[in-house]
Amino acid sequence: MSRIYNFSAGPAVLPEPVLEQAAEEMLDWRGTGMSVMEMSHRGKAFVSIAEQAQADLKELLNVPDGYQVLFLQGGATAQFAAVPLNLLGDHASADYVNTGSWSKKAIAEARQYGAVNVVAEGAQTDPMGIPPQSQWQTDPNAAYLHYCANETITGVEFLDIPDSQGVPLVSDMSSTFLSRPIDVSQFGVIYAGAQKNFGPAGLTVVIVRDDLLSRASAQTPSVWHYQAQSKADSMLNTPATYSWYIAGLVFQWLKREGGLEAMAKRNARKAAKLYAAIDQSDFYRNPVEPSARSWMNVPFVLADDQLDSAFLKAASEAGLETLKGHRSVGGMRASIYNAMPESGVDALIEFMADFEKQNG
Ligand SMILES: *Cc1c(COP(=O)(O)O)cnc(C)c1O
Repeated sequence: MSRIYNFSAGPAVLPEPVLEQAAEEMLDWRGTGMSVMEMSHRGKAFVSIAEQAQADLKELLNVPDGYQVLFLQGGATAQFAAVPLNLLGDHASADYVNTGSWSKKAIAEARQYGAVNVVAEGAQTDPMGIPPQSQWQTDPNAAYLHYCANETITGVEFLDIPDSQGVPLVSDMSSTFLSRPIDVSQFGVIYAGAQKNFGPAGLTVVIVRDDLLSRASAQTPSVWHYQAQSKADSMLNTPATYSWYIAGLVFQWLKREGGLEAMAKRNARKAAKLYAAIDQSDFYRNPVEPSARSWMNVPFVLADDQLDSAFLKAASEAGLETLKGHRSVGGMRASIYNAMPESGVDALIEFMADFEKQNG
């Protein structure tokens, strides 16, 4: 067996100990004589898996009282609709910050359900950045203020939490969730698809503040109705049981690794050395302002894009896979989530220097 370094943006690398444990438990989960995939979601065994995962997640993130932690399906994309359906209530509009592709998708989806006020546009500049909050045209009566904490495609990340001045703050954290500690109490809703940083596709975690549970429009599909799912312990229908179980193993791995403080240190170090390697070279370039550079997704371009395919081919031969940038922006992208070991980043940096030496 040989494993490559997988820089995919998602579905993405998972911690090896998690995959090993899942393999070990595949045929017989702890004496039940069946795999987790084959269990009733209402049975004692799965309910214990589900509850443990939820408790571990709350502990990792330090989720305060007064919040519900839901394990839903439909990806972050379903939440693009679920957020306005659940939160607009009788408000005239919602505020959105546009920092790139995923913001845009969230905005387009929200417009199906209500009026959207785009408070700032950040994606057009070179280098790309986040417009300072003093320039945002926010509405104090907005139903909520939505932002994408980390634009997975362009690698633009909010390194600080915006101040929403009393308006419920909603964040798509799909590609940064669990990469560092966050102060959950500053948020109305946080949502994240699992397949970037904490599990297999099919699972979406939604953390919602209790006072926002009673605003849902009557048209809200019940599977995405926060209050209904909260009352049903996220089991209004069959949940994504196997993804939930794997996410639970990832949460336990994170705890063993020292929790989110330790993760943040490691992630900051990994990102800093990769950006430093890019910055000290004229051969590679990252198009994001240092104040908004993602810890998780590091896009870069080669000065000569004629070399792109040679770069990808040689990288693949060196065991470095899925480095091609998103089709909408081209170039390269190295996604260096929690489960990407530091040795993977070191191997990438070494490869990039070698490739530059041979082609620069
Ligand atoms: C991947 C991603 C999405 C979309 O997730 P799906 O699970 O495919 O719906 C949304 N937002 C961000 C920031 C993402 O990285």
